[in-house]
Amino acid sequence: MTAGPATFKQLRLEGVKRTFGAFNALRGLDLVIERGEFIALLGPSGCGKTTALNCIAGLLDVSGGRIMLDDRRVDRLRPEERGFGMVFQNYALFPHMSVRRNVGFGLKMRGVPKDELNRRVDAALATVRLEAQADKLPGQLSGGQQQRVAIARAIVIEPPLVLMDEPLSNLDAKLRLEMRAEIRRIHRSLGSTTIYVTHDQEEALSLADRIVVIRDGAIRQVGTPAELYSAPAHLDVADFMGFRNRIDGTVIARDGECVTLDVGDGAHIIGLARDGVAGGRAVAAARPDDLEPTEAADGIPAVVEAIEFRGREYHGLARTPNGQELHFGSLKPVGLGETIRLGAAPEKVLVYPGEPA
Ligand code: ATP
Repeated sequence: MTAGPATFKQLRLEGVKRTFGAFNALRGLDLVIERGEFIALLGPSGCGKTTALNCIAGLLDVSGGRIMLDDRRVDRLRPEERGFGMVFQNYALFPHMSVRRNVGFGLKMRGVPKDELNRRVDAALATVRLEAQADKLPGQLSGGQQQRVAIARAIVIEPPLVLMDEPLSNLDAKLRLEMRAEIRRIHRSLGSTTIYVTHDQEEALSLADRIVVIRDGAIRQVGTPAELYSAPAHLDVADFMGFRNRIDGTVIARDGECVTLDVGDGAHIIGLARDGVAGGRAVAAARPDDLEPTEAADGIPAVVEAIEFRGREYHGLARTPNGQELHFGSLKPVGLGETIRLGAAPEKVLVYPGEPA
């Protein structure tokens, strides 16, 4: 039986730690999730996203800290006592059971009477738009349909919280896009709270109300997609948000938020200083589209190593004299092997503290 409350106001992670032997997979996560939010846990492979989700689900014990649903401590409850819905990367459907029986399985195990079970299964199948497939076996469905069965199975128990671990990673690109929209629609229509693990920044940006960026078992930044996209707080978060170019330099001037870096070879780049930038070494970060060939004499010199046409503009790769690779965009073609100068509008460049020399 589900002991979990039908609903809640807040889920709180308070200093949640998890170790595997001597290894710290989670280093004390603090996070407050409000009811109804769609939260993405985003980070590179091995950062601890799945471990965090499994601790919330109850599939893993926490090694320290606690998990609270409002004023109720849940981290010591068994998974079924928490009553959360779970959707995983491999849908783990029962191959010999029809879609309808797969979806109803959890309710049957909970002893829900037949009439109510049928009613709830019908409603869940309608939510994921699978009414017409109800009597098929999973093997007769497409990948996207199977994933929708897995979602129906999770939501049919009317969980206060739905946990999803990379649910779309087995699907092809087109289906992934369709299912993204579907997951968002289902989340809205149920008014549920969803925690969604992904390493795909685009998926996180398009789905989530707030994104939690995790690295090495610690939360690096929490914010709305717009906040993270435009103002990543750290260089590694910027990297995740598509600021692929990193240009090392030394701060030589500052005017309010704007700092000028000397990047060697007589070149400069100006950008917006993020927290922690004082004098000394710093790193400028820019998206490929924002770095362009410039006529300015103090643009960054680089030799073009690759150039390709992407429909509206050219994308290129160039190398600086000290060996740094820079990805750039250009409205005009540039020649392979040509030395060009690259620059970016200051508001498109973010400057982070660098390693001390
Ligand atoms: P991915 O996207 O690759 O699944 P992730 O961010 O979800 O990565 P986790 O699966 O949470 O990462 O793993 C975090 C770290 O903990 C990894 O370094 C992993 O090797 C380690 N880890 C996870 N489970 C175990 C385990 N059962 N025993 C030992 N180490 C583990």
